[in-house]
Formats: sequence, structure tokens, C-alpha cells
Amino acid sequence: MTDNLVKTPLTLLGLGDMGTALARTWLAAGHPLTVWNRTAAKAEALAAEGARVAATAAEAVAANGLVVLCLLDDDSVGSTLDGIDLTGRDLVDLTTGTPAEGRSRAAWAQERGARFVDGGIMATPSMIGVPEAGGYVFYSGSRALFDHHRATLEVPGGARFVGEDPGHAALHDVALLSAMYGLFAGISHAYALIDGEDVAPKDLAPLLSEWLGAMGFFVGNAADRLTSGDFTTAVVSNLSMQVAASGTLLRTAAEQGVDAKLITPYLDLMRERLEADPAAHAGEDTTGAITLLRRRPGRGRRGL
Ligand code: NDP
Repeated sequence: MTDNLVKTPLTLLGLGDMGTALARTWLAAGHPLTVWNRTAAKAEALAAEGARVAATAAEAVAANGLVVLCLLDDDSVGSTLDGIDLTGRDLVDLTTGTPAEGRSRAAWAQERGARFVDGGIMATPSMIGVPEAGGYVFYSGSRALFDHHRATLEVPGGARFVGEDPGHAALHDVALLSAMYGLFAGISHAYALIDGEDVAPKDLAPLLSEWLGAMGFFVGNAADRLTSGDFTTAVVSNLSMQVAASGTLLRTAAEQGVDAKLITPYLDLMRERLEADPAAHAGEDTTGAITLLRRRPGRGRRGL
């Protein structure tokens, strides 16, 4: 049945590692595809696979109503589209950016007569077009655009629409990536601690995975506490105890000759929360420490 449907033609600007992976999935699915890349040589392989190669970005944009961008950063999106007629185009910007860049790029596109959706890709190029790899893209902005092109956007991977605020795709993308780097920091510190000891990384690895999986409860638990504002009910590892125990972590790092710089920021934050009001905060879990991170008063929606 699907093969009989007319496949939406589209344009893709940007044929780096990610853009090339995206292009191949649309070509394989039978979508007529026009491509453009600043360095023209990167389009040659795709031309052999059936893509139409445009000589200029303007020619590529003029070719189709749906235009996908996968460039390095928001500046390259602005310079590539500068001066090009975008009237009536549906722009889908898969270039990684900040929430503010997503919002201003949406307003910029709207001023030029285009509908706009921003995207945040939660996948590496090797996960694109491989459903079992679990990659997907966050989308936000024009709901009408997203609904209209959903089937085409789902070709490279899952599509998750996270609202009409065009900054929210980037916000979700960066929230997940930021959490990932915190996780990588802790794992890096753990491996540094055993370095030089008679403990093989491959023996620590399954223990680390198991422990991090068990501690994953914090994700939902913190969400519940941030929603309710209740940081103390049913706490099993209280802040006072955790601050005391953090001394052991730092002394162990010193004994092992390991720089503790990857873990001290979070330990310091817990202590700061406790010292601000020991009577009030000693019985909390660590979620309350999040309240110390926000630098913009009045922006928080949950008293943060
Ligand atoms: P690459 O470095 O492989 O490719 C960058 C692309 O941007 C190339 O097509 C390059 O053109 C183009 N480009 C850079 N500067 C300009 C400019 N000033 N004007 C016009 N074109 C320009 O990066 P990826 O393809 O891997 O990444 C593309 C986007 O996808 C990025 O925003 C990235 O954050 C995002 N992403 C990438 C992931 C990954 O794992 N690779 C994962 C998730 C998101 P040229 O060939 O001429 O240099």
C-alpha cells in the first residue's frame, strides 16, 4: 500500500555526516530529493543514488515546498538562506541550536513568509534509518507544518512533537544531552579511581551499569518533588547524611591521586543547600539543590 502513495518531494541543505545519513533514508524510501552542500563534492555520491543536485542553495530552496536544513550551527543557517525567497516554504531546521536561536529563527522565517519547525536530533548518523536503534527527533514550532509532513519526517527516525514554542525542541535536546554529560562525568571519575589498582575496567563496567540503572529512579522521583514542591516526604538518603558522606568521596579521590573536579560541583551544591538552612534542609533528598542553579529570577514555573 505505502509504495503506491505519492512520496513528498523535499530539499535538504547540508550533506555532512548527519545530512548524508538523512538523505539516504529519504532516497531509499522513494522521496524525490534535491540536495545542496557548500562543498559540492559531498553531493556526488548521493547524485549516483538518485538525488538531484542543485547548484546553489537558492535553486535547492526553489525546487520544493519542504526544505530541511542540517547545517553546522544557526549562523550557517542564516548565512546560507540569506537573500533567498522563502515565501510559502515549509522549513524544518534540524541544525542543533539553543532555544533562543530556535525562537528567533522561527520569527525570522515567519517574517519571510515561511512556516517553521525546529528539530533536535537524538541520534548519531549510524542510528538514522535504523528503527531498532531507537533514534528520534524532537520537533517544535508550527503544528500545522509538522502534521502535514509527519510521514516524511518519520522516515529517518521517530518524530516527537514537543509543542508550538519553537524553542522547545532545542530545550528538550539540550536537557537530555546535558544530563548525558553529567553521567559521563561520573563514569569517568569512577574509572579514574580504579586506575592503577588491581581492578579491571571491564570488571567494574557491569557493576557501574547496574548501579546507574538502579539510581535511575532519581529521574522520576525528582520530577515528582519539583511538581509538588515537597523535598522531604519519604526521603531515605537525607541531605545531611549525603553531605557528610561526600567527604569520604573527596578523601578517596585524594588517596587515589585523582582530581575530583568532575564530581565536586554537585557535592558543593548539596553542601550549599544544607548550609543555607540546616534545620529546613537536612531531611531533604538532593532535589532541593536544583533550586540553587537558576540564575534568572522569575523565570521558573515551579518556584525554582
Ligand atoms: P558535519 O561537520 O559533518 O557537517 C556540517 C555541515 O554544515 C556540512 O554540510 C558543512 O558544509 C555545513 N556547513 C558548515 N558551515 C557552513 C556554512 N558557514 N555555510 C554553509 N554550510 C556550512 O556535521 P554533522 O552533519 O554531523 O552535523 C550537522 C548538524 O546535525 C549539526 O547541527 C549537529 O549538531 C547535528 N547533529 C549531529 C549529530 C552527529 O552525531 N553527527 C547528532 C545530532 C545532531 P561543508 O561540507 O561545505 O563543510
